[in-house]
Amino acid sequence: MNDTQATRRIKIFDTTLRDGEQSPGCSMNLSDKLLVTEQLESLRVDVIEAGFAASSEGDFQAVRAIAEKAKTAVVASLARCRKADIDRAWEAVKVAVHPRIHVFLATSPIHMECKLRMTPDEVYKNAVESVAYTKSLCPDVEFSLEDCTRSERPFIYRVIQGVIEAGATTVNIPDTVGFATPEEMYALIHDILENVPGARDIDLSCHCHNDLGLGVANTLAAIRAGVTQVECCVNGIGERAGNAALEEVVMALKTRHTFYQADTNIDTTRIYSVSKTVCNVTGSRVQANKAIVGENAFAHEAGIHQHGVLANPLTYEIMTPESIGLPRSKMVLGKHSGKHAFSQRLEDLGFRLEEARVEELFVKFKALADRKKVVSDADIEALAIHTQPVREDQILRLDRFSVLASDVITPVSTVRVVFDGKLVEEVATGDGPINASFAAVRSIAGLPEARLEHYSLGAVTEGMDAQCEATVKVLYAGRSYRGSAVSTDVIEASILAYIQALNFALEVLRKGE
Ligand code: MN
Repeated sequence: MNDTQATRRIKIFDTTLRDGEQSPGCSMNLSDKLLVTEQLESLRVDVIEAGFAASSEGDFQAVRAIAEKAKTAVVASLARCRKADIDRAWEAVKVAVHPRIHVFLATSPIHMECKLRMTPDEVYKNAVESVAYTKSLCPDVEFSLEDCTRSERPFIYRVIQGVIEAGATTVNIPDTVGFATPEEMYALIHDILENVPGARDIDLSCHCHNDLGLGVANTLAAIRAGVTQVECCVNGIGERAGNAALEEVVMALKTRHTFYQADTNIDTTRIYSVSKTVCNVTGSRVQANKAIVGENAFAHEAGIHQHGVLANPLTYEIMTPESIGLPRSKMVLGKHSGKHAFSQRLEDLGFRLEEARVEELFVKFKALADRKKVVSDADIEALAIHTQPVREDQILRLDRFSVLASDVITPVSTVRVVFDGKLVEEVATGDGPINASFAAVRSIAGLPEARLEHYSLGAVTEGMDAQCEATVKVLYAGRSYRGSAVSTDVIEASILAYIQALNFALEVLRKGE
């Protein structure tokens, strides 16, 4: 049997930057979002939902910047069924090569009565008129029936038929509250395709939340039933328990291809690197036993399993680590490794960098190899992700620091920073050496109100000589700025991360945004 025949093509609609960003603690700043956009395009997603342009000025700017940056993917902005929202969405996405406006309105009795305070007839009219108006601006229109899985069948069919006639090119069926079961999701999609005459001529889509841990299962059931687009997020982030995880849906279709008979356009070898990027920009890691991208997803602990895998990987592996871009380390890199081996490893780890950047990282790699014997893949990833490219116009740059920490005197930190090209030194105290160092930097930057929202410190690898990665989020004038850095010295990593966040804040301040 040739299982490549008669397969269906499923579009991947990624909403990491919209629904994903709505997860608690996952807010991203503009440069983070642009980095994720780049990664999503390298993964070859079909649609990037960039944000909700009407929700704030910051969101509008981000959607617009993403629309300018994306080259191959469709860029969508979410909008409520209101003229002002739709206009704002269009203003933000119209610069894209492939713009889309995604309008939504709730169709369940509880949402219509309690939230919208509208009758079903009013909802129908508002949906159809909004889609028609959107269509007058943008040819690519998606409509979502919010809380569709708790809506009534006849009304669902009526709304879908109405919005298709008004010009919707994609109709999305969200399980907004993560309530559906796979059997119900299958039946719902099946019934829509049977009962709505126009539903086969457009892209029917699903958007499944994970409140009962069924987000991916429901998405796969919807694919079996006939949807041609699925909405998902990298690492399964999103509101509450999150959305269907992109990597799990994609790898299920790939690994069980004979069963699903469905393909995506995703380059699965980019999955690992994209997952890492999302972890790093959101500051939230995935659990170790998370399918596909968790630390233990390809680890074999039991002796009998190890024996089997060594004899033939297929004994216990249904997919290879290489298929998601996780290389099996063959060589150990250390101080004697050359630039070629280093740049090859970077590539194996999913980083595609310019020559000058590789050169810069190689210098850091050499310095690290002097400090520790074996430089692991995790160390190299940390260098590539957390060390910032050297920029001429950097406002603040660490020159040197010295801390005095003890439990008998007040900790003191002296930090010297290049600030706008001039050396500035400041001494500050605090309840610990890091706290004191941050106070000194804050004072040099002239941002005394900057508030530390989040600070975390973690070891990149095991062992006494491990590098540590510091991540900070700083709140200033209502916006949050992230910084991260690695070093074998926890205080140095922390100061570098903090300086990076303040640099972002100063840049925004100077641009007068
Ligand atoms: Mn959602």
